[in-house]
Amino acid sequence: MTVAVVLFTADLRLHDHPPLRAALASSDEIVPLFVHDRAIHEAGFAAPNRRAFLADCLRDLDAGLRERGGRLVIRSGDVVEEVGRVVSETGAADVHLAAGVSAYAHRREERLREALESGGRRLHVHDGVVTAVAPGTVTPAASGHFAVFTPYFRRWSAERLRETFAAPRTVRVPDGPGSEAVPAAGAVPGVSEGLAEGGERQARKQLTAWLRHGLAAYEEGHDDLSGDATSRFSPHLHFGALSPVELVHRARTAGGAGAEAFVRQLCWRDFHYQVLAARPAAARQDYRTRHDHWRSEADAAGDIEAWRQGRTGYPVVDAAMRQLRHEGWMHNRGRLLTAGFLTKTLYVDWRIGARHFLDLLVDGDVANNQLNWQWMAGTGTDSRPNRVLNPVTQGKRYDPDGSYVRRWVPELAAVPGSAVHEPWKLRGAGSARPDYPEPVVELADGLARFRQARGLE
Ligand code: FAD
Repeated sequence: MTVAVVLFTADLRLHDHPPLRAALASSDEIVPLFVHDRAIHEAGFAAPNRRAFLADCLRDLDAGLRERGGRLVIRSGDVVEEVGRVVSETGAADVHLAAGVSAYAHRREERLREALESGGRRLHVHDGVVTAVAPGTVTPAASGHFAVFTPYFRRWSAERLRETFAAPRTVRVPDGPGSEAVPAAGAVPGVSEGLAEGGERQARKQLTAWLRHGLAAYEEGHDDLSGDATSRFSPHLHFGALSPVELVHRARTAGGAGAEAFVRQLCWRDFHYQVLAARPAAARQDYRTRHDHWRSEADAAGDIEAWRQGRTGYPVVDAAMRQLRHEGWMHNRGRLLTAGFLTKTLYVDWRIGARHFLDLLVDGDVANNQLNWQWMAGTGTDSRPNRVLNPVTQGKRYDPDGSYVRRWVPELAAVPGSAVHEPWKLRGAGSARPDYPEPVVELADGLARFRQARGLE
């Protein structure tokens, strides 16, 4: 009997899974293994919303494997030591793993390779699992990575993606290796009330519905805050319940302007992975310094707290921040507006905002969070680093009838239409003034502070 281990990480699915397929093709039995990695917990990255979503994914993966005659083996501890244990318990000769995208994933790969090869075992690392196009696959002639999206998108679009694979029909797992219990539903405390459900089954249901009813209208609808017409695949992609390669193929097969716009967004995801792979320090440091001297945390404490709580007095900003707290997810336009407001209007360090997002986002991802924050702060890859989004005009444009604000800011629920974006104008208009905060700063003052700080006037 030959045995192979498939180490699942950010690829918690059975469909279109190259490591699983390779292991099943070359061994009689496999051990599908997931390790609750101590290092990720110690780094403070295991926020409640992501832990709960992960638990859903693991339960679903185990159920899917059981339907096929197998089961998931779950362990906790140091990932390399746990793989070593499972390999010795089962006599496995091969370990299959999806190529990771973070500096941490690369170190994990190196440590695994060293440990396995010193014991005469082999590590097989598969590309095209976590990303559509692996970091480093397309590079500009002059340097190691693309710092500008459009030329990257052109080259990325021309790449030939591998074919997709069906989920296996049967999976044989040896009797031996013990497993911790699959995490129970509802066991994680401190989770957002409106958190979405995780797991591959749920993700595939959403995929089917999206291809039928969502994709075609994506181009016109994706920026409409109240329309909520984006795919909401980001948590499924983060945990790998959906395959980015499959999403690109299926969108391209569906065709049309909606599909093109959607594939372009998937490319943004890979774009940020290749930036962070080349410049891992960009998770913490400015990608391009603008010589900012951000307000000190103590000086800006009241503003930061108002922003976190969704009480800045700017309705669209507050609505988005409350959506984040309630769902552990926020619409992309809301992310742009709230990040722009914190970094430019309040002139607060992007790292403070990025940390808060990572504490709550179910799709919270170092590359896509930190680099999108840097994009908005003007320290990243945006070619117009000093652009400032006005939350009133943005609110009127992307929530024209005000229904997004009314949904999330109940204090303003009685204010009709787009008047909801300027509650201060309701003063003295005969109607009772809503119990809603005054703006933390006048937009003109925020803009002047930012322009001065950046040496623009
Ligand atoms: P859709 O609009 O349906 O797009 C499809 C997929 O494309 C998304 O699921 C996502 O994987 C990818 N995508 C879309 N927009 C972007 C983008 N700007 N950058 C990278 N990938 C993108 N995305 C995360 O996955 N994790 C994060 O931690 C994260 N933090 C962000 C922080 C800020 C300040 C900003 C401005 C954006 C952030 N994004 C992040 C990107 C984007 O907002 C989300 O991916 C998107 O809103 C998820 O919703 P959706 O799945 O409905 O997206």
